[in-house]
Amino acid sequence: MPNNRRNFFKQLAGIGSLLLLGKKKKAHAAYSGRSPDQLGVLVDTTLCVGCRSCEKACNRINEDLPHKPSETFRDDSVFEQRRRMEWDAYTVVNRYKNQGDEGRSLYAKFQCMHCVYPACESACIVGAFTREPNGAVIYDAWKCIGCRYCMAACPFQVPAYEYGNALTPQVRKCTFCFEKRLSEGKIPACVEACPMQVMSFGKRNDLIRKAKKKIKESSDRYLPHIYGEREVGGTAWLYLSGVAFEDIDFPKLGYGPVPGYTEPIQHAIFKWFLPPLGLYTMLGGIMWFLNKKKKNRKQLENK
Ligand code: SF4
Ligand code: SF4
Ligand code: SF4
Repeated sequence: MPNNRRNFFKQLAGIGSLLLLGKKKKAHAAYSGRSPDQLGVLVDTTLCVGCRSCEKACNRINEDLPHKPSETFRDDSVFEQRRRMEWDAYTVVNRYKNQGDEGRSLYAKFQCMHCVYPACESACIVGAFTREPNGAVIYDAWKCIGCRYCMAACPFQVPAYEYGNALTPQVRKCTFCFEKRLSEGKIPACVEACPMQVMSFGKRNDLIRKAKKKIKESSDRYLPHIYGEREVGGTAWLYLSGVAFEDIDFPKLGYGPVPGYTEPIQHAIFKWFLPPLGLYTMLGGIMWFLNKKKKNRKQLENK
């Protein structure tokens, strides 16, 4: 992770901790009623062999991601370091050593978790993130002003910023294949591409039932924990594992929705720090920035 990105997270996390003290209980209560009936994916990490076909499929379906002809997605050397999602990779697979089973490797695929209560959506002051009724959390680059609150708010550190794009930088993350496949009745590209049927796509509630059945029938294979069933209020992507989730880089998180933490930041910013004149100046700045972005894009399109 580049230094400027890390520093940015640190600074915002510091501000956030100060502002949130004593406010989280109230905000959690406001989110307790949302229905989790939506689409989802169940990832059985015990079946993954690290072939990276899912990464390849994701890269192909998202044509705006840079395609690297030399990248075969068969290069095992990528497993020598732990990777995170970046602006040019919406999903990554990492390799882990199984502590209890000498020599055997474990693999886990990561992407946006498509939270039932997305912190990115809640943190964004211009509404660039939206949670669709089917559960996909999508991003609108035209609305984004580049403040990167979404990056600081996401409990899974998913959104990535195009630092190298000086003209029209965007925040990037997995789209759940919302426009390119779900809206056409197709399943996500990565799910379809997996040769090991690691991922099951369907209604989130059905997937939770399926996961519970698997755990009950193979208690020696799975830990009795469906990651994402309750973490941060629930996520559309759910995981099963045979080892502790912390051992495969899934953060230990509470069950309260994260917007319970991020919304007080937004409310505090507007309530305490921005008198009306400041607010109008900021909104004027936003309009200017959006128009400039539009012009830049048009110029690029006309070239
Ligand atoms: S994982 Fe992060 S980016 Fe994805 S929906 Fe949740 S908060 Fe938003
Ligand atoms: S759901 Fe689509 S965008 Fe997300 S990781 Fe899979 S292929 Fe990529
Ligand atoms: S395609 Fe399936 S088996 Fe291959 S790395 Fe991705 S999740 Fe694992």
